[in-house]
Amino acid sequence: MCVSKRFDGNYMVISNKEICPGYFELEVKACDIVKYCLPGQFFMIVVPNVFLRRPMSVHNVKKDIISFIYKVVGKGTKELSNIHGGVLQLLGPLGKGYNLECYKDLNNVIVSGGTGIVSLCFLASKLKKKGILYYGVRSKNDLICVDEFKKIGWKVIVSTEDGTEGYKGYITDVLEKKLKMDDVLFVCGPVDMIRKVSYIAKEKSIRGFVSLEEKMACGVGNCQGCAVKIGGLIRMVCKDGPVFKVEQVEWQ
Ligand SMILES: Cc1cc2nc3c(=O)[nH]c(=O)nc-3n(C[C@H](O)[C@H](O)[C@H](O)COP(=O)(O)OP(=O)(O)OC[C@H]3O[C@@H](n4cnc5c(N)ncnc54)[C@H](O)[C@@H]3O)c2cc1C
Repeated sequence: MCVSKRFDGNYMVISNKEICPGYFELEVKACDIVKYCLPGQFFMIVVPNVFLRRPMSVHNVKKDIISFIYKVVGKGTKELSNIHGGVLQLLGPLGKGYNLECYKDLNNVIVSGGTGIVSLCFLASKLKKKGILYYGVRSKNDLICVDEFKKIGWKVIVSTEDGTEGYKGYITDVLEKKLKMDDVLFVCGPVDMIRKVSYIAKEKSIRGFVSLEEKMACGVGNCQGCAVKIGGLIRMVCKDGPVFKVEQVEWQ
């Protein structure tokens, strides 16, 4: 098992390409960091001309390169997409990732919506057993990373809200009918999707993990902007999470 370590420094941008409309893959050379990255962890990235760093999950790690995939949604991600070359200041890897050992005899089920898929690619590549990915997006054009799952032998079930690919509607409707007692869930996506999956898990007594996304300024637990209630206690998504056991998250 690798010891945790945090870095804060400038790292060379290898590439920053649009992989499909509105989605970019950023590759950064970071020889000293790669071996410390765990699935579910993230970095705070300093974006030029923008106040506050932006959190981005580790999408993958290959040799000495860390890759991130992000959707352009506002000023920070727009500015990030304009970077071609030079260096970027990264703080990380941050947070606690997925526990890969906890339920290793159960069947792996990954549930994702939108850009939540990014951190789950890294997870799928590290899990010993292949499983099923349930992935819901608004429309066909928002599907990313699907081939990466297929390439490593995962079964992929897709839904789109507009019916342009796979099942029409929410992925949680498909999931609800298929989940079994001996499944373990790994979930990341929009808060409404995570909430629904948590209810299904509770109803069917299914175990697993959810990765929460909250707005955060520091990424290390100082600003307390990402506080959530977990197991009756106030926890910071950045420092205590972003990954928590599904049954511990309290939904209002
Ligand atoms: C731990 C963590 C990991 C993340 N990993 C990824 C990733 O791998 N890929 C990716 O595309 N995005 C990821 N995000 C979300 C990403 O950080 C935000 O989309 C980004 O900071 C928005 O910055 P902006 O300046 O472009 O947009 P802003 O102008 O700040 O916001 C634009 C829109 O994005 C929403 N938004 C802003 N911050 C967040 C946030 N933290 N969570 C959800 N919605 C937000 C706002 O409500 C608004 O609607 C992650 C967030 C967290 C907390």
